[in-house]
Amino acid sequence: MMLALAGCAEPQPPASVRDTPARTAVTQPSTATATTAAATATAASGHTAAPLPSATAVPSSTTAPNDVVLDGANLLAPLNKQAVLAATFAPSDLVDLSVPVAVRAGIRLRRAAADAVTALVKQAADDGVTLAVVSGYRSYQEQDALFRFYVQQMGEARASRFSAQPGHSEHQMGTALDLGSPENGYQLEESFGLTRAGVWMQQHAAGFGFVLSYPQGREDVTGYAYEPWHYRYVGMDVAQKVVASGLTLTEYLRR
Ligand SMILES: [Zn+2]
Repeated sequence: MMLALAGCAEPQPPASVRDTPARTAVTQPSTATATTAAATATAASGHTAAPLPSATAVPSSTTAPNDVVLDGANLLAPLNKQAVLAATFAPSDLVDLSVPVAVRAGIRLRRAAADAVTALVKQAADDGVTLAVVSGYRSYQEQDALFRFYVQQMGEARASRFSAQPGHSEHQMGTALDLGSPENGYQLEESFGLTRAGVWMQQHAAGFGFVLSYPQGREDVTGYAYEPWHYRYVGMDVAQKVVASGLTLTEYLRR
């Protein structure tokens, strides 16, 4: 069974481990929530992501003092390692994806992204390619738990190449998704980029409004290692302009 915290990092933790930190974090949202409200009011003052009280807390480098707090509802918010979402931000129009557009019930995206990926998966199927959404929206608290898990497993430097710190994940916007293919067992690994499904996405994603956030060889710009499975919905017009520009989405959005 795929769980909510799967996605956007490798290797994936075993389900039993993945589930544990999420429950822990969700029961302790008050510190981060209260702190973030203050941080949002004073945009540049920082403190957005004070660590949750936990025996496994990692050093708090989540939000630098000069981080910019973004409006997460803006489809084109230039979210990266220097800009952050409030811990309290959650999209207002999340909808459940149907199965088999998603690999399991309970995966959510903002409505426009959900509609677009539903059409995308159908077109892929018509082309003989099977794709399914493995993960979608992730709350600040879920991202916090996931990031801490990876830090425990591999240290912060390596974890930061594959997993966003809380407040910095496009998954919190409700417009980012991770796609899987049965060709490689739905693993969110570089091998996805070599599957027929991964190649199909490279050719067709922009036509449905999706852009590959972290392309190969651009870690110096995006801050993240190549993630051929992670796409973000920006609308068809912008997606096609990004592709035509030759820029990464990171560069395009901060212009
Ligand atoms: Zn992802």
